[in-house]
Amino acid sequence: MTTHTSAPATTHTSVPAYAAPSAKAPLERTTVRRREPGEHDVLIEIKYSGICHSDIHTARGEWGDDGHFPLVPGHEIAGVVAAVGSGVTRHRVGDRVGVGCFVDSCRECDNCKAGLQQYCTGKLGNVGTYGATGRDGEVTQGGYSTHVVVDENYILRIPGSIPLDEAAPLLCAGITLYSPLTHWQAGPGKKVAIVGLGGLGHMGVKIAHAMGAEVTVLSQSLRKEADGLRLGADHYYATSDPATFETLADSFDLIVNTVSADLDLDAYLGLLKTGGTLVQVGIPERPQPVSSFALVARRKSLAGSMIGGIPETQEMLDFCGAHGIGAEVELIRAEQINEAYERVLASDVRYRFVIDAATI
Ligand SMILES: [Zn+2]
Ligand SMILES: [Zn+2]
Repeated sequence: MTTHTSAPATTHTSVPAYAAPSAKAPLERTTVRRREPGEHDVLIEIKYSGICHSDIHTARGEWGDDGHFPLVPGHEIAGVVAAVGSGVTRHRVGDRVGVGCFVDSCRECDNCKAGLQQYCTGKLGNVGTYGATGRDGEVTQGGYSTHVVVDENYILRIPGSIPLDEAAPLLCAGITLYSPLTHWQAGPGKKVAIVGLGGLGHMGVKIAHAMGAEVTVLSQSLRKEADGLRLGADHYYATSDPATFETLADSFDLIVNTVSADLDLDAYLGLLKTGGTLVQVGIPERPQPVSSFALVARRKSLAGSMIGGIPETQEMLDFCGAHGIGAEVELIRAEQINEAYERVLASDVRYRFVIDAATI
């Protein structure tokens, strides 16, 4: 990695964007300041930006962060390099690139050195793509915009085989599932369950299937069963049916829970084989009780995982490129963002809204 020299007093350009003017207010069209690309910066012309559930929480001030309005959300960015700083070596004008959930980190802590920038423990921490304070002291603004300037080391290459609109959601939803599936070794001979078939879950099904695992979807109802099987699931069960928890007892090596609603964790731990792991990637608002007995009785683990580092995110994109995997997207115009937010909250999306940046 190159050393970052903090930029001198930079000049800025205003570009079109959609921002939440304050918590609770609908997003509206506005402009946002982008710095002129510094020595190691890349100017990206954004083509598509995915809508992640986190965008909605943040734009509505639900995560206790009230200081950063107006706020431009968006951390599933796919676009094309429009210009590069004089010191940039990793990307060229015209390259297809992506930006995920963070745009910088301390680069010096053990996690950063190990490529686990998402878990940066340095003073800077991982700098969120929006609503965070960057190295230059400016608040970061995300991808619901036409352009963004990002340090070259925090930009990913998007393989030519993935359409850019289908690639955008990989930068958050895709890596959120790829990382635990890789870490806990989903693959041939392994039985993997994905809890919830939404934006995150549908990526889990596709990726776990491509890794060679036997994949089961555990969803509240059988409403999306046909989709689940089409996306690569081998089995599909409704968790609203108590018989499911008897039928599937002691079945799985790995369960990845993408649901952020309250869940009976003990019941799900009962579905694990001896030594199995239940991984949380959704974040429920309230603490979730768990009985130690459900863990100790058969040496089970309850774990968590958050997105992925830069090297692993690149590995995920290359994996998806090689296996023909993109997200299932519903392309919208920018003026439909507020309506899309309501539909995400009503679980009425198959499976990710993606904003066409040409309409911003
Ligand atoms: Zn996200
Ligand atoms: Zn760090």
